[in-house]
Amino acid sequence: MPQQTYFIKKALLSQGWAKNVRLGVDDKGLIVSLKTNVSAEQDDHRLGLVIPGLVNCHSHAFQRAMAGLTEYQVSPTDTFWSWRKTMYRFANLVSPEDLQDIASYLYLEMIKQGYTSVAEFHYVHHQPNGKPYSSVSQLSQSVINAANIAGINLTLLPVLYMNAGFGDQALLDDQKRFGNSVDSYLALHDEATRYCSDQSQHSVGMALHSLRAVPARSMTEVISHFKGRVHSCPIHIHIAEQTQEVEQSIKVLGKRPVEWLLDNHDIDKQWCLIHATHMTPKETAEVAKSGATVGICPTTEANLGDGFFPLRQYLDDGGQIAIGSDGNTCTNPIEELRWLEYGQRLLSRTRNVASDDRERHTGTNLYSHCLEGGARSIGQKTGALKLGGRADLIVLDDNSADLANIAADSILDVLIFGTSQSLIKDVMVNGTWKITNYHHADEERIRNTFISATKALRD
Ligand SMILES: [Zn+2]
Repeated sequence: MPQQTYFIKKALLSQGWAKNVRLGVDDKGLIVSLKTNVSAEQDDHRLGLVIPGLVNCHSHAFQRAMAGLTEYQVSPTDTFWSWRKTMYRFANLVSPEDLQDIASYLYLEMIKQGYTSVAEFHYVHHQPNGKPYSSVSQLSQSVINAANIAGINLTLLPVLYMNAGFGDQALLDDQKRFGNSVDSYLALHDEATRYCSDQSQHSVGMALHSLRAVPARSMTEVISHFKGRVHSCPIHIHIAEQTQEVEQSIKVLGKRPVEWLLDNHDIDKQWCLIHATHMTPKETAEVAKSGATVGICPTTEANLGDGFFPLRQYLDDGGQIAIGSDGNTCTNPIEELRWLEYGQRLLSRTRNVASDDRERHTGTNLYSHCLEGGARSIGQKTGALKLGGRADLIVLDDNSADLANIAADSILDVLIFGTSQSLIKDVMVNGTWKITNYHHADEERIRNTFISATKALRD
């Protein structure tokens, strides 16, 4: 039985835009009734323009507090690797309380801008000297608490991080907080999973930091544990983000990173490959065919000078994509989608790269791809307004000048490419309104807590 019913003037369903939609949501936040071309009934809540909320497939929450603080030149040859030194310094200052306060504010910002779920790729586990906290999953618990405070759907991805680089290099001093053996990782994962199920409805997947940080034998061991035990457990990995990483992989493993992964593991829809920026056409085709999702993080990839993802070929080959905020210099999925397309236009000197014969509207095509791939990347029933799915949705501001007199099939084009104003007025997560009229009920408190927590860190 629906606990609440909504009458929606126009809603984006999986098959396209529909008019006069009645949607019933039960007390677990699931969609239990859905009809189109019907009339409103007396107790219906009335909504104008509704689209599904997006999944953020890749976030490192603590990095939100250092956004903007690495944008000065240390050397004329600044790269990802010089940025990483600053990031490590910062990572080593963050306490469990700081992380909770930073992530609460970050997740609030994400919800306001249209993300209704986030996958947190969480690798800061221990005290700065590498000693575990008395609760080994203390920092994972901070992330879970933050998701509860802000009200976003979380998929926690505790990260296995073992080495400083290819060839079993020992962790550097400033990487000690990240390190685990396979056994200590599994113990941490177990404790975090118990805490998560006691405290919330959130889910837990697993992540391998990268081929450079996890040796091949440990990767096999830990994957067989999760593949056997929890079939739907998402597995995420950073891969082929930087050309230097590709070169080192060839030198040590004898293969390019994506090539090595495809040859050594059964890559399927349980996997989400984060970045996968540097792929050959053959690798691109094989990843697309595998059913895995590629998590593209356009603003971070631009910020760090990573390179361009081979989007057109990958979509032509039937690949799945999701969008991620990664370093959290940008928490707006609309901007991520815009930059994804604009990067491709600048590179190819053509327009509407992400559209195709089936869907000529670039905004609609990008948004729809990321809804589907985002849900797949976390193995959750989100990303679509359909029976049995989670009621994760966005109400667009139909009073805005930008959306006035716009036909339904251009709405997402306008949202992504037609304005720099936010058109996201209300957001429902798991059946509960989290943003109403552009505002989160606990916004001032969460923002003030973030400001206090980051004062010492930023000083
Ligand atoms: Zn990342």
